[in-house]
Amino acid sequence: MLILARSDLRGMADDAQVLVVGAGIAGLSAARALADAGVRVALLEARERVGGRVLTRRAWGFPVELGAAWLGGASRNPLADRLREVGGEAAPWDWKEGALFTADGHRWPEERVREAARRFGEVARRLQEMQRDASPADDQADALERVLDERGETGEMRAALRWWGEMQLGMFQGADADRLSLAAYGQEEDMPGDDALATGGLDRVVERMREGLDVRLGVRVLRVRHGRQGVVVEADRGTFRAPRAIVTLPLGVLQAGDVAFDPPLPARKREALARLGVSLMDKVVMRFPRVAWPDARRFGILDEPRAEFVSLAPALGEPVLALLTKTLRSREDESDDDAKAVARAMRLLRRMVPDAPDPVDSLVTRWDRDPFSRGSYVHVPLGASVEDHDALAEPVEDRLFFAGDATSRSYPGTMEGALREGQRAARECLRAFDISRAP
Ligand SMILES: Cc1cc2nc3c(=O)[nH]c(=O)nc-3n(C[C@H](O)[C@H](O)[C@H](O)COP(=O)(O)OP(=O)(O)OC[C@H]3O[C@@H](n4cnc5c(N)ncnc54)[C@H](O)[C@@H]3O)c2cc1C
Repeated sequence: MLILARSDLRGMADDAQVLVVGAGIAGLSAARALADAGVRVALLEARERVGGRVLTRRAWGFPVELGAAWLGGASRNPLADRLREVGGEAAPWDWKEGALFTADGHRWPEERVREAARRFGEVARRLQEMQRDASPADDQADALERVLDERGETGEMRAALRWWGEMQLGMFQGADADRLSLAAYGQEEDMPGDDALATGGLDRVVERMREGLDVRLGVRVLRVRHGRQGVVVEADRGTFRAPRAIVTLPLGVLQAGDVAFDPPLPARKREALARLGVSLMDKVVMRFPRVAWPDARRFGILDEPRAEFVSLAPALGEPVLALLTKTLRSREDESDDDAKAVARAMRLLRRMVPDAPDPVDSLVTRWDRDPFSRGSYVHVPLGASVEDHDALAEPVEDRLFFAGDATSRSYPGTMEGALREGQRAARECLRAFDISRAP
């Protein structure tokens, strides 16, 4: 099959059977599976690097993850093995090991934090029960308040459970709890208490995945035409043709309409696309002269439920602290320059640690403004449902296949979801070519 490429794309395989749009984890895993089955595949990637929302920076002499970093359900997460294969580690991480501060800057005693974590476990189980009978109009924030009422929680403990709830429900989903559908609560197949922080650099994992693949960097796809003749992908640096294509564009990019589909995608898919929510989480990662913060994995202040600090010091062996902010707060904050972002993070830190020294360096993310991600991950907002992930995953005419963290019903918004979905789309694509070759 012919690929029409301009001369600046010399070396482009001229006989690809499948084009993969996007070289994040989903695209790489799809391409890998196809190549292993003997299919000629070419990946088209807008950035000058692979990995997408996996972004490791090594400017400080050790790897710092500015995108994905944690592995949910690490004991069965395939990323954990891949990380070990490239010399990294999945360092156990328990989100319950936190420190909490009152609005006037007093640290709660550890046993009280443990008690709040224990109670939140009960609250979460109750939310799980309520999820079963939830209507599409029920949101998670309201359900949380109802559970707190039921339990008679008051005062600071109630505030702590609310904080925990916003972090647990909201931070992991990258959206405020009042935007999240209760019906989708806990639908993902993560195993609580079995998380790990990736150390050693996820960049090595994605580099390993791309080995031997034909990846075209700096190719921004603008239009995907599809029909009986196959798929024609128009990009800023040429036009590419193949019988089939796998699209792994992020939800935010698809929603923004940055890539046109001709003919348009089926109504069911377009509706699901519009209903699902683009999440946002950003990081301000700061390197300090020394560790000068609580000996806890995470800490925050009760009156600020949209931001928390995580200490990377134990895992990295370096005095590094990251502020994670989510959703509306991140969206507003992204208009600030780096200096303002760091000043804001330091103001919050000094409410808890008044004598914290200035950081010596910092790294600030703006995932919403990134034109090739337009957000950080995906959630099921009010009015949407987990079936929308399935609709997004459906192929069009056995010619156009879809994968990515947003097509995953079991592990949405995660590297694991993207990896598995890439493999799933590759299987579908193989079946479309030749049923006997499909695994
Ligand atoms: C701040 C942050 C924290 C996160 N934390 C975690 C975590 O702790 N654990 C976890 O499991 N997951 C986490 N995630 C989510 C995880 O990173 C994603 O779910 C996963 O990497 C998605 O992979 P993907 O291949 O589906 O999409 P992507 O990685 O976004 O890949 C899509 C690719 O398409 C490319 N592209 C976009 N537009 C075009 C175009 N027009 N033409 C050509 N190419 C294009 C992009 O450049 C990108 O490379 C986090 C994400 C962010 C941003």
